[in-house]
Amino acid sequence: MSLQDKKFNDQAERIAFDKEHRRRLSFNIGRYDEAVARGKSFYQNLELARDRAVHIRMKTLLNLDKLLIDLESKMTARGTKVLWAPDANSAVKYVLEILGNANIKSVVKSKSMVSEELELNQELNNVGISPIETDLGEFIVQQRGERPYHIVTPAMHLSKEDVAELMHERFGLPANATPVEITYWVRNHLREKFIEAKAGITGANFLIADPGAVAITENEGNGVFSLSASKIHIVIAGIEKLIPTLEDLDLFWPLLAIHGTGQHITAYNTIVLGPAKESEGKGPKEMYLILLNNGRTKVLAKSPQRRALTCIRCGACLNACPIYKNVGGHTYDTTYTGPIGSVITPHMRGMEAYGHLSFASTLCGKCTEVCPVKIPLHEYLLFNRYEAVKAGYVDSKWKNAIKFSQWALRKPSLLDAGKPWMRKWIMQTFVSPLWGKRRNLPPLPEASFRKQWLKDHQENR
Ligand code: SF4
Repeated sequence: MSLQDKKFNDQAERIAFDKEHRRRLSFNIGRYDEAVARGKSFYQNLELARDRAVHIRMKTLLNLDKLLIDLESKMTARGTKVLWAPDANSAVKYVLEILGNANIKSVVKSKSMVSEELELNQELNNVGISPIETDLGEFIVQQRGERPYHIVTPAMHLSKEDVAELMHERFGLPANATPVEITYWVRNHLREKFIEAKAGITGANFLIADPGAVAITENEGNGVFSLSASKIHIVIAGIEKLIPTLEDLDLFWPLLAIHGTGQHITAYNTIVLGPAKESEGKGPKEMYLILLNNGRTKVLAKSPQRRALTCIRCGACLNACPIYKNVGGHTYDTTYTGPIGSVITPHMRGMEAYGHLSFASTLCGKCTEVCPVKIPLHEYLLFNRYEAVKAGYVDSKWKNAIKFSQWALRKPSLLDAGKPWMRKWIMQTFVSPLWGKRRNLPPLPEASFRKQWLKDHQENR
C-alpha cells in the first residue's frame, strides 16, 4: 500500500461518516442537479450536441501537434509570447521570471486549476510575491489555506456560517454577516487589489487554434478584470484545452455552462487575441501564454485512456459520483478529483503513487452517463486497475485473497466440504476483514449453490 493510498483510506474512513459533511454536499449537489436538469431541457437535441463535441475534441486531440503550432504562430504574430512548459517546474520558472523581471510584488489570479496543479501560490509566496485569488470561492479557500474542494465550486464543503466565521476571524466582519454582505465586502476589497496589481494570471477554458486565441468563461467578472486592469497578462493552460475554431465556442460554451452550473451560458465570456495594441489604450501591454504538458502527453500515449484529455472540466462527473459525494474533494489529495481525476492522475503523476484512485469507484457508470463529451470514465478506471494490478501496485492482502478465491472456486468439492459453521468461520476470519469492518457479510446458506442445484435438479427429474 502506497503512502497516498493509506492517506486516502484514512481520510475516507473519517469523512465518509461525517454526517454534516454529507448533508452539505447533498444539499449543494441537490441544487446543482435541479439547475442542470432545467438547463438541459433547453436543448432540442442534447445528444447531437454531445456527439458533435466528442467528434471535435477527439479530432483536435489527434491533431494536437499541428494545431498547437498553428496556435503558437498566430498568437505570436499578434504579440503574445508563447512558452512551452514540459513540466510544473518549468512553468513556475517562467512565471517567476516574468514577474521578477518586472519587479512585481503582487499578482491577481482568476480561478485556474492548472495553477493549482503547479502549486503556484506557494511558489509565489516563497519568493515574496503575493498571489490574490479573485474568484469568491477561491478567495475563501485561500484564506483557509486549503486547496479547492471541487473543480467548479471550490468552497462546496463550507456552509454560509463557516464563511461568516472565517471572514470575522480574518477581516473583522460581523460574525453573523450574510452571504450578500460578505460578497459586497470581498468585491470592494478585491477592487483595490485589481487596481494595485501590475500583473494578472488566468487559466484558459479553451485555446482556439484559429484565429489563435484564449477563451475564458466565468461568472464574477474577476477573470476579465484580472487581465484587463494589469500591464502583464499571463495565461497558463494545459495543451489539451484546444479547439479548432472560434465557431466551436458556439457548441462548447453552452455545453460547459449547462453541465457545470446549469446556466445556459456563463455570465462573462472573454476571448483574448493578444496584448492590447497601442491604439486600444488600456489593457495589458504584455501577454504570455504558457502551454503546460506536465504529464498530459503520458495520457495521450495511453490507448484508450487518451480520450480523457477531451474533458472540458465541467465537474459533472464529480457531482454524480457516489464516492466523491461520500469522501469529498480533499480526500483525493490531488488537483483533479472525482472520476476524471482518478482516470488521469495515475498517468500524469505515476501509477505507483496514485493507482489506488482508480479503485475508488463503484463502477456504477453514472460519471460516464453525465459527461458532456461522453468519456467512458468507469471503463477507463477498469483499464487503470488492470495496469495497476499488472504492475504489482496492489495491496498484497487483496492479491492473496484473489489468488485464494481463484484456487478455491475452481474446486467445487472444496466449497462443499466441512460443516456450515466451518465455512462461516472461514468467511468471518479471512474474508470479513477484507470486506471492511463497517460491512456485514451476507448470511451463508446451509448448502452451496452446487449442492442446491443438484438437489433441485434431481428432485425435478
Ligand atoms: S470528465 Fe466529463 S463530466 Fe467529468 S469534468 Fe470532464 S467533461 Fe465534465
